Amino acid sequence: MHYHRGNAYDYDRWDLDEWKSSTISKYFANLEKYLGKTATPFDVGTKGNMTLSYFKSDHFLRLPLSKMYKTAGYKPLARGKSLGYRDLLVTSWKSIRMNMARTFLTPIKERTNFHVALGTTATKILFTADKRVRGVEIMIGKYKKFIKVRKELILTGGSINNVKLLHMSGIGPKELLEYNHIPVVADLPVGKNFQMHLRVPIFVAIDKCCGQCLNCSTPDCQNDFFDFNEFYQNSWDYIMDKIGFFTHIGINDFVAYISTNQRRRDTANIGVFHTYFKRNDFYLKSFLEKRRFHPAVAASVLKYNKVRNIMLFYPTILAPVSRGEVYINSTHYLSQPVIKPNFYTDENGIDFRSMYAAVTMIVSLTDSLAMQRYKAKFLNIDIPNCRNFKFCSEYYFRCMIVNLSSPPRSCCGTCKMGKPTENETVVTPKLSVKSVQGLRIADQSIIAKLTNTRTATEAVFGERLGEQLMKKWSSNSKNPKKR
Ligand SMILES: Cc1cc2nc3c(=O)[nH]c(=O)nc-3n(C[C@H](O)[C@H](O)[C@H](O)COP(=O)(O)OP(=O)(O)OC[C@H]3O[C@@H](n4cnc5c(N)ncnc54)[C@H](O)[C@@H]3O)c2cc1C
Repeated sequence: MHYHRGNAYDYDRWDLDEWKSSTISKYFANLEKYLGKTATPFDVGTKGNMTLSYFKSDHFLRLPLSKMYKTAGYKPLARGKSLGYRDLLVTSWKSIRMNMARTFLTPIKERTNFHVALGTTATKILFTADKRVRGVEIMIGKYKKFIKVRKELILTGGSINNVKLLHMSGIGPKELLEYNHIPVVADLPVGKNFQMHLRVPIFVAIDKCCGQCLNCSTPDCQNDFFDFNEFYQNSWDYIMDKIGFFTHIGINDFVAYISTNQRRRDTANIGVFHTYFKRNDFYLKSFLEKRRFHPAVAASVLKYNKVRNIMLFYPTILAPVSRGEVYINSTHYLSQPVIKPNFYTDENGIDFRSMYAAVTMIVSLTDSLAMQRYKAKFLNIDIPNCRNFKFCSEYYFRCMIVNLSSPPRSCCGTCKMGKPTENETVVTPKLSVKSVQGLRIADQSIIAKLTNTRTATEAVFGERLGEQLMKKWSSNSKNPKKR
């Protein structure tokens, strides 16, 4: 839903001529359809299918947060710049949240040459002796089927499942395949180069009233607690008229891009996301549970929330240096692959230093005048492993980072796209898997180095794939022998 193309730097550092930011901006423009009436600092197309707009929420935190980042020297994000704060675009249409399936598949679902098989798992890709894709084995329920591939097979199983499928099919590191008694089709580093954004929650208590009302003690001002009647009314308003609370995501679309990197002060290495919970908020418990916070951490946050509104700052490492790994540990198609994220393991400790600088900076910014008007207070959450450290000491922050870091559900890089001559390359810039024929990949797994965006890149892979396929097959189609 959050939509951000990423910055020129994101793509240029892939070091691939075909994927330079200047080359791919036209593909982004082909996809995008900006519906907003106001000007946006983002480069954005207006003729594509992916509908983009801003959510219209007048969340009270927008103003103090803007002022807070201003105190730290940041300005509203300007066109072509990577530093600054502002509302993100979202993929939505008439207040309905859009995803890739709704945007691209729903409109073509009636086509006779298009078929979606639900509840189906691809379990193995089969190759001929000369390493051309012959077909794919699938499981529909308990039935195994074989689908013949006449031209090409396009893989879009995501960064984890692509690895599993390729390893099971004999494409991966030779030693790993041999260890699992899988015949080697291509010895490629599938599963290496695994990357995820990484973030740490900073829990801050906040009073809504003091910034907005003249007299903090009036009942109106203190009335920002979760109310079920309001919740039912909001649900009704959205279902019936697509209006109200559920047409936006509160303060979640307000993002600040900052730099803690002394060498590249002009390029964001941290994105700060924000979330807000009303006093005694019904959603907070499931929010904490879903993110698997330690029960003591969750209990302590919930205790604070009984009496105060809570906001979360989520500083997020945009381009981590550490690299993880994904690999199979069984050849059964239902088994889970091993995921080793290796967070904070880069040789020079860059990831940890970036996060440390971001966390301490944000905590100190909560003392700024703008936030103090709202009585912002960094909360001393009970983190069991950090109980022995003095609150707000260097060791406390270090411990907090190690114990509360978690990835925000975006992963990439396991089928790295690169120059065909390089050993780490799995996929060529034309999206073809190296060393075999008739197999391409077009999803997040091919990203060489993480961008500060997520969904946007996978849409652009689809767009470019379409172009490649048209080029190859529409000209060859006149000459069947070439197929
Ligand atoms: C809760 C959540 C919120 C997010 N919010 C945002 C956001 O606001 N903005 C943003 O930019 N990104 C967001 N992301 C990240 C974004 O969704 C991912 O980066 C993106 O979906 C990755 O796309 P993909 O095509 O690589 O993989 P996926 O979207 O994971 O697609 C892989 C597909 O392949 C299928 N599949 C896998 N293996 C097999 C198999 N063996 N056989 C058959 N089918 C298979 C899966 O079922 C799945 O449908 C969010 C992610 C999550 C989980």
